[in-house]
Amino acid sequence: MYYKNQTFFVFGLSSSGKCAAEKLLSLGARTYIYDEDDGARVKKICDGLLLLGAKNAASCVGEAIKAADVIVVSPGVRIDHPLLVSAKRDRKRIIGELELGYSFTRAAIIAVTGTNGKTTTCSLLSACLDKAGVNNGILGNYGVPLTINGERYSESDVAVVEVSSFQLETVQAFCPHIAVILNVTSDHLDRHYTRENYVYLKSRILANLRESEYAVLNFDDPTVRSFGAGIKAKVVWFSQKEKVGGAYIEDGKFFFYDEELFAVSKLDMIGDHNEENALAAICAAKLVGVKNESIASAFSDFKGVKHRIELVAKKNGVEYYNDSKATNVDSTIKAIDALHRPTVVILGGKTKVQDYAPLFDKIRSSDVRHAVLTGENRFELLEAAKKAGFNKVTVS
Ligand code: ADP
Repeated sequence: MYYKNQTFFVFGLSSSGKCAAEKLLSLGARTYIYDEDDGARVKKICDGLLLLGAKNAASCVGEAIKAADVIVVSPGVRIDHPLLVSAKRDRKRIIGELELGYSFTRAAIIAVTGTNGKTTTCSLLSACLDKAGVNNGILGNYGVPLTINGERYSESDVAVVEVSSFQLETVQAFCPHIAVILNVTSDHLDRHYTRENYVYLKSRILANLRESEYAVLNFDDPTVRSFGAGIKAKVVWFSQKEKVGGAYIEDGKFFFYDEELFAVSKLDMIGDHNEENALAAICAAKLVGVKNESIASAFSDFKGVKHRIELVAKKNGVEYYNDSKATNVDSTIKAIDALHRPTVVILGGKTKVQDYAPLFDKIRSSDVRHAVLTGENRFELLEAAKKAGFNKVTVS
């Protein structure tokens, strides 16, 4: 693409939109910027970009979109936003910031997606690469936009890119060297409408992989397993339950294709779900040549990521865990599975399209003694608790 002669419309001025606009302006592209949020943070970003030569589309959004050759959408903007629907009708090219950043990235990309465990797996993998002396960075949905930050790495480096379903809505050519899919349960149906669409979006991370690339897939997740059929990339499986072609667990040890690595107990994190993340990290690390000693050392030093079943206090014999990153039913179930002791849970948050029945089925048969329901969805949770026959609840 020749940027100087093109007009771009950057829709959404979060950190990724900001980086996209800065990059386009540095290349001499005509760049309109637009965000429907008029809060102080966005205004500050907007002012900075105007100084760099951006054009504010706030008062001429229709004309600006008409003038644009390419629309760069931030992950926070719904793909069915009326402006984007009409732009699509007018045959405008619509890409995401991830796609833009990808076109400037020279490092080998290991992309990680899944409903849950992306940040943990990226962090664990990055720790393995650090131990092996491989220059690397965690980018993407992790909060570090690929655009501008990706360019800081060279061909011999590794970009570990966390990828969300929102970002997968607008990928076109994105082709990582290794694509990891951890699991697909249900989430974000308020944005993606149906589970089928959500599943399809997750599979898009594999769409451009060629024979020289790898798909690291969770054999234990039926949806992820089904992604292995009919793709060009070499499939490397991981499983907590079975001996597969890839990473697995046997007799309390990690294995990779029949090679014994080290004891699972090296992994110092609460919850079986973290074994899933560890197996995925092992596959990716081994595929880029990290030695077993480096992986073992990274695993034993890694203490998890903040806000994910994080022990934050111990008082009078009571342990307090912060798992505020559990923002869907599956991750909350995993936390309840992980804590085998009498527990009080505080549940609630934003309303999303979610079926809470499996959560309260789990709670009813677990060590949870009481649930405090709070947030926007507290009455939906209450309804589900009642249906499941779990009455030890307080609505706050
Ligand atoms: P993501 O980046 O996909 O949101 P995180 O690593 O930030 O994932 O973890 C988010 C939540 O999901 C936390 O509550 C964490 O305990 C839980 N979690 C982490 N890994 C998994 C997994 N493999 N399966 C289910 N839940 C997980």
